[in-house]
Amino acid sequence: MAVLFRDFYFIDADRDGASRGDLLVEGGRISRIGADLSEIPGGVEIVKGEGKRLLAPGFVNGHTHAAMVLLRGLGEELPLKRWLEERIWPVEAGLAPEHIYWGTRGAVMEMASTGTTCFCDMYFEMDEVARAAAETGIRCCMSRGLTGDDPEKVREGVELFHRWDGKGNIRVQLGPHAPYTVSPEALKGITASAAEIGAGVHFHFLEAEWEPAFIRDRYGLTPMAYLEETGLLGVPSAILAHCVWFPLSEIPGLAGSTATVAHSPSSNMKLGSGHAPAQAFLEGGVSLSLGTDGAASNNRLDTWGEMRLCALMHKGVSKDPTVMTARDVFRMATLSGALSAGFDDLGLIREGWRADLVMIDLDRPHYIGWSPDNIVDFIVYAGSSSDILGTMCAGKWLYRAGEFPDQEYDAVMGEITRCREDLLRRARRR
Ligand SMILES: [Zn+2]
Repeated sequence: MAVLFRDFYFIDADRDGASRGDLLVEGGRISRIGADLSEIPGGVEIVKGEGKRLLAPGFVNGHTHAAMVLLRGLGEELPLKRWLEERIWPVEAGLAPEHIYWGTRGAVMEMASTGTTCFCDMYFEMDEVARAAAETGIRCCMSRGLTGDDPEKVREGVELFHRWDGKGNIRVQLGPHAPYTVSPEALKGITASAAEIGAGVHFHFLEAEWEPAFIRDRYGLTPMAYLEETGLLGVPSAILAHCVWFPLSEIPGLAGSTATVAHSPSSNMKLGSGHAPAQAFLEGGVSLSLGTDGAASNNRLDTWGEMRLCALMHKGVSKDPTVMTARDVFRMATLSGALSAGFDDLGLIREGWRADLVMIDLDRPHYIGWSPDNIVDFIVYAGSSSDILGTMCAGKWLYRAGEFPDQEYDAVMGEITRCREDLLRRARRR
């Protein structure tokens, strides 16, 4: 169905300030933008902005494990390795396809209600993720998480690509887990497969402080040499999640590559991993997106919240209020994330671009004083995802006025609760 946004302000990462006018959404795309659109086709839903509502591009969650919402709250306040080995992996071992499906359905509701219209997901049973995404209408760039050297899993990842990539709102990447769970030889095979089929790769890199020494001691390589040697810089696109311990001296090597660093400030803070040199990445010309990581290590899937934390955190740690501007984090959460997910016509409000939009209520006390020039500052520092009136993906409302159209909320919540209980029961039996 077509939607006309009448008299809205709108902003994106390439605009100096907010513009005001009408937007017509048809066929999943922004078809027309104008000061006062006339000759509107019949049967159009008209949404009034009255100069008090803002449209922004939908946020892209650049790194997550959506179905981990089922593991939220398990194993708080532990270091990464113990958290994974003692609390997460034993429970994950009991995950069945229906858990992944319903967990992802829950994550989609949570993300839609906080303005995310696209998520870069790495997990397993990804056909279930694809089904959850296709049924709800959210956009997804997914990868099957690969650990160990089993070529069968790589084949599954490649088959997933052929089955789902380009279908509806779905893109597929290959998902080797991390340097400490996949050997360089296996990684080389994965990146060669990715290059061959034209897929991107999603990889955890240098999240924990011990990782650079691990790579040096075991393989005799620096982080950049490791990326080059394993072919991660030779794939069409690579999402490198975290990069907390990426050496400053090697950042120039990453500039201009097809890699995007998915910065996950909340998860890095919560797991005590440290803070990524995000400002140095930006200044060095490295593409940067924002991710929440899974709900077990955040514990929110709120990309808007990540923008605020990111902008504040880097000012604090550098003792420099001029770094990591509101505009920087807004770009990371929209356009840069969209590119990392494999969409080149997503993340800006442009005619012909995909209609993934967040509708924000500016008629609230904390927006008093906003203007077209300072609106991005207000969004990042004063606003929050509770200001969202609606979230649209490819022209379809995922969330509107506190509800999820086309979703049976109570039934979905019941299934998610049942899956969580079932999963914990299985873990106790282990
Ligand atoms: Zn992760």
